Order: sequence, then C-alpha cells, then structure tokens
Amino acid sequence: MSFLDVIKKDTTGENEANKIVVLVRILSIVLDIFSLFSIIVSSIWDSRFGVISGAVSVIVGILILIATYNIGRMASVYCFLTWTLLWVIINLELYGWFCGAQTFLLVMIMMFYFASYANGGKKTVVSGIIFIIYMLLFFEYNEKTALITLSTDAKLMVRALFMGTLIICTSVVAYLFSHDSQTMESKLIEYNKMLKEKANTDPLTGLLNRGAAMERLVTLATNLHDECLSICICDIDFFKKVNDTYGHNMGDQVLIKIGEVLKQQMKGIGSAARWGGEEFLLIFPRKNGDEALQLVYGIQSQIRNIKIPCENGIITVTMTFGLTEYDFNSELDYNIMEADNKLYLGKDSGRNKVVY
Ligand code: GH3
Ligand code: MG
Ligand code: MG
Repeated sequence: MSFLDVIKKDTTGENEANKIVVLVRILSIVLDIFSLFSIIVSSIWDSRFGVISGAVSVIVGILILIATYNIGRMASVYCFLTWTLLWVIINLELYGWFCGAQTFLLVMIMMFYFASYANGGKKTVVSGIIFIIYMLLFFEYNEKTALITLSTDAKLMVRALFMGTLIICTSVVAYLFSHDSQTMESKLIEYNKMLKEKANTDPLTGLLNRGAAMERLVTLATNLHDECLSICICDIDFFKKVNDTYGHNMGDQVLIKIGEVLKQQMKGIGSAARWGGEEFLLIFPRKNGDEALQLVYGIQSQIRNIKIPCENGIITVTMTFGLTEYDFNSELDYNIMEADNKLYLGKDSGRNKVVY
C-alpha cells in the first residue's frame, strides 16, 4: 500500500465529502514536519521549552492523524482546528509575533469553510471569531518577549519557514477543493450537454426530434431573411405494409436505416428530423428550391437503394417528398403546411416522387 493509499484510506468512493479528512491528514503531516524541525532548532538554540512543546506538538499531530481513521469527519476537523490554534499559540510563545505563526489562522478559516455545510451566516460568524482570536493574540504577543531569543537573521529564517509552511498548507487546501469543484463543474457541463442532446434527439433514429426541428426552423426563419431556406417533408410509402408483412421490429429497422441515410446525406448541408411516426423533415438553410430539389433527388435515390435483408426476403422502400422554398412573408406554420400539401399531392398522384 503506497503512502497516498494510506492518506486516502476509507475516504475514496462515493462519499466525496470525505476529502476533508484527507486534507486533515496531509496538514497534520505538514505541521508535524514543521514541529520536528522546530525541535531541532530549539535544541540548537538550547530551549528546553521549545523541545518539549515541539515534541508535544508532534505527538498530538500523530494522534490526530491516527484519530482520523477512527472518528467522524467533522470530529477530525474540530480536533485539527483546536490543535492548530494551540500550535499557533505555542509558536507565538516560542518565537514571538514577528515570526508569523498567527497567519495559520487563515488555514483554519479555509478548513472550516470547506468542511462545514453550515450556511454563509454561520461561516461569517466563524470568520469573525477567528478575527477576534487574531486580535487577542496580537495584543498578547505583539510586545511580549519570545521564549527563544533569536538574532535578526534567525528571526527572518524562522519567519520564512512559517511562511513556506503556510503556503504549502493553503496550496494543499486550494488544490484539493479547486480540483474538486472544477471536476464537478466540468461533469455538470457534460451532463447538461448530454441531457440537452437527449431532449432533442429521437431515440429510435438518432435524428432531431420534432421539437428540436421546430426550434431550428424558428431560429432559421427569424435569422435568414436575406437568404434562402427550403424545407421538405417526406414519408415512407406503404409503410404499414412493411410492418404487416415483416413485423414491427423490421419496420423499426427500416426507420433506423432511413435515419442513417438522411443523417449522412444532410451532413454539412442542413438538418434531418423525425417529424412523426414514419415522416421526416429536411431543412436546407441557404438553399433555394431548385438547389434543394437536386439534393432531394439524390436522397430519394439513396433511399431506393436501401436493402434490408430479413427472413422473408429483402425489404426495399420508397418515399414521397414535398419540397417548398420558404416564403419569408408567410408564417412558419404556413410554410410547413405547404410542404405537407405537396407531400400529399405526391401520395395522391402515385407516390415515390418529389413534388416541388
Ligand atoms: P402511405 O404511403 O400513404 O404513407 O402509406 P403508409 O402505410 O405508409 O401510411 P399509414 O399512415 O397508413 O401507416 C403508417 C404506419 O407507420 C402505421 C404505423 O404503424 C407505422 N409506424 C409509425 N411509427 C412507427 C414506428 O416507430 N415503428 C414502426 N415499425 N412503425 C411505425
Ligand atoms: Mg407512409
Ligand atoms: Mg405518414
């Protein structure tokens, strides 16, 4: 088991909230390393109090680390926050205000904000309390002589050490939680995209559904006034017979195949949608009726070429197409009706044709 596995133990899986426990463990280790260092420095500077408090700090840090594997999430956080406060006070006693141990109160705020599900009001109260603690510590330690008397250079060195440790701690907190929220955000965007796609797609053929096609038509009709737009409604000829002869499942296979052909044929040209049971709508933006007619002829022949083998033979189908160039002086519904009328004209006059 690697070091990382030990840190993450009992926290992975569905319960993302346990990330805070990982944070407590990492910060405990960071503060422990700092305390170990403080023991070494104190022994060099011959401060018995420094060595003892450093040792106590290390032991408490290890105890909290062990405790995180046994106590609850918020209990771990509160233990850590209490320890951090004591750790700050001990270090202020040892090295004085100048060394900057008080800045670790910021880590406490960050930790509490990320760990707690309390509302903004309660969190603000905690910030206020930490500010009060900061001011109390200021009045207590600003003028007070530190237990360890340090030269200016040594003071600067200790201060740099505190700042370095602070930056490590805040970076760990920021990394863990920004990473989390960014992952969640991108997951959410992906999920929304998927939902939208699902809402716009006909499940059988994968084409746009009627609602999405209508939306697209409305957008085009309102934006394309200076350009052409053609629409075509097409319907499978004698499809009921296909169902009756080969079964509803084979009928579905025909619809799927037609969906594929329409999608492929309209790629880069416009959109294809399933308009109803066995009716489809083709949208040709920036194509006048004559241009669209040629494209529809191509589609018609591709449909005729479809061959679906089944137990009782090979299924072939034809379609009838009603094509109209969009009249921007008329309503969208009227234009759709025009295409529909042409389709029925085609049906009445023998099917398997394009009426324009
Ligand atoms: P026409 O040439 O006049 O269009 O004749 P048709 O038989 O195609 O038209 P009709 O309206 O009489 O029948 C359409 C059939 O389409 C009836 C219905 O069961 C079938 N249908 C509609 N939706 C589906 C579907 O999702 N799957 C299958 N397999 N059949 C469907
Ligand atoms: Mg039909
Ligand atoms: Mg029909």
